[in-house]
Amino acid sequence: MNHTYGNAPSGIMDPPKVTLPGADLFQKRATRLRELVVQVPALDEFLAFMARLVQAQHQVLSEQEPGWRPAPGAFDEALAHGMPPLGYQALLRDVCWQSDLSALLENVEFHVGQRQRPLLEALRRKTSEELDAIAVDVLEARSGSRENRPLMPLVAAALQVTWVRLAQALPRAPDKPAVESEALCPTCGCPPVASVIHGEQYRSGVRYLHCSLCATEWHLERVKCSVCGEGGKLTYLGLDDEKGKPFLPIQAEACSRCDHYLKVALRESHGRADPVADNLASLALDVMLAEEGRYSPSGYNPLLIIGD
Ligand SMILES: [Zn+2]
Ligand SMILES: [Zn+2]
Repeated sequence: MNHTYGNAPSGIMDPPKVTLPGADLFQKRATRLRELVVQVPALDEFLAFMARLVQAQHQVLSEQEPGWRPAPGAFDEALAHGMPPLGYQALLRDVCWQSDLSALLENVEFHVGQRQRPLLEALRRKTSEELDAIAVDVLEARSGSRENRPLMPLVAAALQVTWVRLAQALPRAPDKPAVESEALCPTCGCPPVASVIHGEQYRSGVRYLHCSLCATEWHLERVKCSVCGEGGKLTYLGLDDEKGKPFLPIQAEACSRCDHYLKVALRESHGRADPVADNLASLALDVMLAEEGRYSPSGYNPLLIIGD
């Protein structure tokens, strides 16, 4: 809406340094996953389950009341001192994430296949302490026990709902993290899942890291390694179709100084490219890089089970 003084032309506006997740985050992601089910038939069953799970995240986020609310002004001090206001270590015991897990399981119950059904049952049999222990493994990016590993993506999905809700309730976005901690989310302290280059006019071509837990996005210059900060040693690797054209709007930004890579979703190429959905759909790229053996992933996707 125009006010008396008119709007500043978008060309001279500074893009925001940090943005908190919007209410339609999971809805958009689920839509994108359903597109990818069709586009990547090799992973269709897996992507269809993910689409269902993310749709359930949207449902639970919009319907379930928060089980815990911070006192007014609780985050003022953290925000003023540049500390992550929603650090997961401090909050895990307080936030009642397990009610989000129950709601999520109920929501996906009638939509999952025979293969996933035992996972829901196994989670329902866990005690509250056992669930918290799995949550800590997810939040610390540990691979967990062999028995619990298949349960971790569902636990991660519930934790994401809880933290996205908290992030949305913050009075304002945190400041951009200091250079020494710029690879960690300024809202919750978790690593990014991937990065994303936006396409809207006010931030066209601007790159952000996307948090693996709370979906906060924070600015990081393009063509800069998020692990070691080097800009001159990067190569961009993608998946091509049979005609040699890019198959998905996502690439691996690989650094030959520190030998890490982080995926980058390209909204300039595809407006709905998503740092989680396109990341899951481009699993073949991670497999290729793992076989090559040079670069290790620096992004963390808790919806994906890694390990044997
Ligand atoms: Zn975060
Ligand atoms: Zn590097």
